[in-house]
Amino acid sequence: MTTRAFVAGWPISHSKSPKLHGFWLDRYGIDGTYEPLALREKEFPEFLRELKSSGFAGGNVTIPHKEMAFELVDKPDEDASAIGAVNTLWFENGKLCGGNTDAYGFSANLDHRAPRWREGKNAVILGAGGAARSILYALKQARFETIHIANRTHERAKNLAEEFGAPCIAHSLDDFSRLLPDADLLINTSAIGMKDVDTGMRFDFSVLHSKAIVTDIVYTPINTPFLCTASAAGLETVDGLGMLMHQAVPGFEKWFGQRPEVTNELREYILERL
Ligand code: NAP
Repeated sequence: MTTRAFVAGWPISHSKSPKLHGFWLDRYGIDGTYEPLALREKEFPEFLRELKSSGFAGGNVTIPHKEMAFELVDKPDEDASAIGAVNTLWFENGKLCGGNTDAYGFSANLDHRAPRWREGKNAVILGAGGAARSILYALKQARFETIHIANRTHERAKNLAEEFGAPCIAHSLDDFSRLLPDADLLINTSAIGMKDVDTGMRFDFSVLHSKAIVTDIVYTPINTPFLCTASAAGLETVDGLGMLMHQAVPGFEKWFGQRPEVTNELREYILERL
């Protein structure tokens, strides 16, 4: 019987997840589907209520439903509970379970591309939105000693720093440059640099030390201004496409029973379709 999975969000047409899972379904010769579902916020609770009878093995949840999914699942896992959002759904003994694989995807990408990131002590995060929550959780798990969060809306950074506790410290964007010389790991989790988001913000990364690693979770465009500036300063960089690919692994394994591999071939396949 065909195993069905989905990704639900609004809007959904931009999602690269169907391409990614489609690649793996093909690669492993699995009789399965991964369907994009455009669901508005008011439609989402009923969709979840009827999920068991709808024939889906599970699926992904994306913007804007991740927090609502966390509230509505029968059983959030440890990562989802710490992050306060769910991006992966599956069934266990008839119960709807929710996990969050974004922190895993972030760490697995760095483990793959720049494994010495785990030696870092000080991290600087730009942005304090939904994605920043997963990154904070990943950095705390990796035992960073200081985590600075700089955000346009200081209040949002402050709330995050309070919620996640030590060693998180909140800042406004005015402090961003001042934080850079101590950064071992610098991460952009904000929409700055995204296609169609020109904030006019310019960076100077020449003040970072030469061993600092710079990563951006934005992957459209793949070479963001943040990463280009870091490369020009001679720093090691890691783009955000790897996070997208790695976060998809646990879900695929749960629904289709095969742990898929993140390969260069998959990366090229997605890059051609960005
Ligand atoms: P979000 O919750 O909407 O947060 C957006 C963040 O960007 C906030 O910190 C916001 O600051 C900041 N921002 C937006 N416009 C800005 C501007 N003009 N100037 C300065 N700051 C600005 O979004 P999110 O879910 O965290 O996602 C952020 C990015 O990460 C998106 O590009 C998303 O595609 C990407 N992402 C990638 C992956 C991956 O797998 N690679 C996973 C998740 C997300 P304020 O608080 O001041 O509004």
